[in-house]
Amino acid sequence: MSTQKQNALLFSCPNCRKKLKRDAEDFPFCSSRCRIIDLGRWASEDYRIAGESVALPEQSYISDITDDASY
Ligand SMILES: [Zn+2]
Repeated sequence: MSTQKQNALLFSCPNCRKKLKRDAEDFPFCSSRCRIIDLGRWASEDYRIAGESVALPEQSYISDITDDASY
């Protein structure tokens, strides 16, 4: 199917991919429910990424440099 460029006035809900018009009440979402679900997903992803960056193995990199300097 190649309907992506034909329906310029139609958008897809970022949450459920349902087609919606640009003047939809909860644009760009098909409903307030999908808007809340999508916002909640983004918030939880931000939280997860922040937690991972804290857990980066910095110490092994620093000890490697110290080891090289004392050589
Ligand atoms: Zn939706």
